[in-house]
Amino acid sequence: MNLERLLERFCRYVRVDTTAVPNAGRYPSSAGQLELGELIADELEELGLEDVEQDAHGLVWATLPSNARHPIDAIALCAHFDTSPETTGKNVKPVVWRRYEGGDLTLPGDKTKVLRVADNPNLKEYVGRTIVTTDGTTLLGADDKAGLAVIIEAVAYLTEHPELSHGPIRLCFTCDEEIGHGVDHLDPKKLAAVCCYTLDGGGHDMIDVETFSADLAVVTVHGVNIHPSIGKGRMTNALRATARFLELLPKEMSPETTDGRDGFLHPYHMEGGVAEVRMNVLLRDFDDAKLFEQQQLLHRIAAQVEQEYPKAQVDVQVAPQYRNMAAGLAKEPRAVAYAEQAHRNLGRIPEKTIIRGGTDGSRLTELGVPTPNLSTGEQNPHSPLEWCCLEDLGAAAEVLVELAQVWARRGK
Ligand SMILES: [Zn+2]
Repeated sequence: MNLERLLERFCRYVRVDTTAVPNAGRYPSSAGQLELGELIADELEELGLEDVEQDAHGLVWATLPSNARHPIDAIALCAHFDTSPETTGKNVKPVVWRRYEGGDLTLPGDKTKVLRVADNPNLKEYVGRTIVTTDGTTLLGADDKAGLAVIIEAVAYLTEHPELSHGPIRLCFTCDEEIGHGVDHLDPKKLAAVCCYTLDGGGHDMIDVETFSADLAVVTVHGVNIHPSIGKGRMTNALRATARFLELLPKEMSPETTDGRDGFLHPYHMEGGVAEVRMNVLLRDFDDAKLFEQQQLLHRIAAQVEQEYPKAQVDVQVAPQYRNMAAGLAKEPRAVAYAEQAHRNLGRIPEKTIIRGGTDGSRLTELGVPTPNLSTGEQNPHSPLEWCCLEDLGAAAEVLVELAQVWARRGK
C-alpha cells in the first residue's frame, strides 16, 4: 500500500470543511460536502472508474468493474462525507507525528489540548508509527474521511494491480450521516450489490456486526398556567411534573451507568415553561423486545405523573429510528464471513464487535442490503483530541483489497 499517497489523500479530504449542520433545512446540510464530493468524483474519474456520478442530493457513486472472466457477485463500499457538528471542522490543520516516540502529545494550536497516554492507553501500541492529530482547535474528521481515503486508496491499488482478480465493486459516499440522514436519499436498488461494507469503525481489525435498535420519544407535559398570585389549587406547573418524570426514569438505565450489551433511556433535550414542557428521550437496546419494554416504561411513568399531578397531561410519542443490523446480516452470511476470512488471510485476528449506536449500515441493512461496518483507524471521534494512525489506515485498505479477492474466489 502506498502509505505516503494515502496520507496525502487523507489530509486533502480533512482540509475540506464538511461539518453537518442540524436542522439546516437543506440537503446536504453544508456546502463543503458538495465540494468534497466534487473533488472525490474527479479523483474517481481519474482512476478510470465507471458510472461516476454526484447525484442531485450530493451522494457520489462509482463502479470498479469486474476484471474476472467468471461471474462474481457485486459488493458495495460506503463512507460518509460529513463530520460531526459536536466540534468544528473548519480550518482543520492535520499534524503528522512521524515515528511516534511514545509519551503525551501536546497539540500545537492549543497547548491545553494534550493527547495523554493515561487517557489513551492504546497509544503505547503505536510507538514507531505515524500518528495524525489535529492542532487542538478542531476535530480531525477521520470519522469518516479515514473511510473515504481507505476505500479510494484500495480501489486505486486494485486498478494498479490488474493481476488481482475482483468482481464488480460499487462505491457510494453519503452526506449527513452524523445527523441521522445518511441513507435518506440512498436507493438500495441503485447500489446493486449483494451486500455493502461501511468503512466507519474505530481502531483496527474490528467488524461491527450489531448496532443498537433505536427509537426517539417526544414527551410533552401539559400543565395549567395562571398568575402565581392566584395559583393556589389552580396552577399545575409542567416543569415540576417533568422533574418528577425525570426522577422516575431509572438511573441504572442511563448512558452514564451502562455499557456492553445493556440498553439505556437518555433524556437529552428539554424546553418549555409552566404551561408546557417538551422533552426528547432516546430509547436504545440491542434487543427489540427490550426496546419495546422501554417504551412501555415511559407510558407507565407518564401515567404515574398524571396520577400525582391530576391536572397535568403527559403525552409520549415514540418514533422508530433504526434497528439492530444483526437480523439483517443473517440473511447474507457471506458478508461477515468473507470479511473475517480477508483478515485471517492477512495474518490478522478479526474481532466481531457491537456498536452502542447506529451507522449508515444499520439503516441500509434494514432496507435489505446487509452492511457490516469495518475499522478505518479512527480514534476519539468528534473531539479535538481525535487522532488516527497512518499504518492502521493502510491496514484497512489492505483488508478491502483482500476482501475483493475473497469475493472473487468464492463469491457466486
Ligand atoms: Zn462516522
